[in-house]
Amino acid sequence: MTDSSPNIPEAVAGYVALTFDDGPNENTATLLETLRSCGARATLFNTGENASAHPDLVRAEVDAGMWIGNHSYVHPHMLTLGDGDMRDQLLRTQSAIEGGGAETPFLFRPPYGEHDSNLDAIAAELGMRVVMWAIDTRDWDGATTEAIVAAAEGIAAGEIILMHDGYTATNAAVPIIVAHLAKRGLLPGMIDPASGRAVAPR
Ligand SMILES: [Zn+2]
Repeated sequence: MTDSSPNIPEAVAGYVALTFDDGPNENTATLLETLRSCGARATLFNTGENASAHPDLVRAEVDAGMWIGNHSYVHPHMLTLGDGDMRDQLLRTQSAIEGGGAETPFLFRPPYGEHDSNLDAIAAELGMRVVMWAIDTRDWDGATTEAIVAAAEGIAAGEIILMHDGYTATNAAVPIIVAHLAKRGLLPGMIDPASGRAVAPR
């Protein structure tokens, strides 16, 4: 172990997925620098509206080694929409993310976690798996850095942590979470679209 790679465990016990919703936005450059500084990769669920407004930031996410997922176009309550509008939310977001230079997303996180079998099937038709989470850090609800870190302690190998791109408390929590994971032999990984579980990056 060297000082330059403090977050590489001596024995890998498994992978967990760090996920950040709602970007890209004015916080994204800070989040990316934070992730880079602790050697972590994450899945970023972008809205199409934000990706369309900030294609340069989508490119920056890709260049930083992040995986980009679809989080709908305008963050609606998806289950209030008809099938055509659901498809429209998903497809426009795919285009916006591709427009920033990212690969076509294969993961969809529904806003507010609201989904049903019909939405799951529509996402699948469009090549995406619906991805939820095991741990909600509640950063969206004003959780402190300490509370976010404490929530993340409950993660197990293969599971997914929900966070957001946009909060200073979250930015501050990330290096602590990654360091604590490393002590448990857990590394940040990608979400496997086949299983919906966190796996080694490939
Ligand atoms: Zn969201």
